[in-house]
Amino acid sequence: MTVLVFLDPALENGRIADATKPQLMATDLGATRGDGIFESLLAVDGVPRKVQAHLDRLASSARIMDLDIPPSDAWERAIATAVAEHAPAEELVLKLLVTRGVEGAERPTAWVQASLPGSLGRDQRQEGLDVLLLDRGYDSNIAERAPWLLLGAKTLSYAVNMAALRYAKANGADDVIFTSTDGLVLEGPTSTVLMATVRDGVRTLTTPLLENGILPGTSQGALFNAAADAGWQLGYGPLEPHHLLAADAVWLVSSIRLLAPVKSIDGRAIPVSHEMTEELTALLAKGSRE
Ligand code: PLP
Repeated sequence: MTVLVFLDPALENGRIADATKPQLMATDLGATRGDGIFESLLAVDGVPRKVQAHLDRLASSARIMDLDIPPSDAWERAIATAVAEHAPAEELVLKLLVTRGVEGAERPTAWVQASLPGSLGRDQRQEGLDVLLLDRGYDSNIAERAPWLLLGAKTLSYAVNMAALRYAKANGADDVIFTSTDGLVLEGPTSTVLMATVRDGVRTLTTPLLENGILPGTSQGALFNAAADAGWQLGYGPLEPHHLLAADAVWLVSSIRLLAPVKSIDGRAIPVSHEMTEELTALLAKGSRE
């Protein structure tokens, strides 16, 4: 079951649409140019997680794209409508999507989609991931030098990210960690990289530097807040592949998949800690409710 709710200035709570029928114009710039942005968030037992963080990032992506999008309260009402219209479920995936609209109309097309998650996220949380390091082809200063590449925005142009995942699968791996041409660890095609080290009893969580042209992860943000309260030290890159290979655990983290442990990088096994995965997954849930 998929529920669609289009944001419509004339309808306070949004317009519910039939997901089995065509709903987008073929001339929508989201379809013809990938010119739009999105967010994916999880609702647990009918309660959407980290709504404000996702709305803040949607607004930031819109600013980077010069895109005029509906205000936060309209999204909040459409999210509530979508959750209420969907059959009750332990987990729901909510997508917020907004495009530059139909050619010539100069009005964005915006909608919320609610659907059940597939089993992939759960499988990857349990089984772990074999990951390839892939060169993204940009150096780590590119975001500042070339803002038109939209590197800090969550745009609908995910064809490159999906191609990287297909490349990984064709080469016997499950997922990807992008690196910069100057050798820094960046992010996954749909996830943030996170590593844990334990040295002399001090436990540290580290994630790559945001300034290196990666998407600020809402899961990483929520987890860091909760982990700091639980006594973890926090660190931000720059990270290089050898740091990941020497870590006590590495994860790919995102809102739907949550923490998926990395078990190998370029064919080299790295430690997996079920204990830390469990603890940090609980902290992520805690941080996501605040
Ligand atoms: N980085 C990229 C490129 C992503 O696409 C995503 C999520 O889809 C993330 C990081 C993780 O973001 P979040 O934790 O907000 O889901």
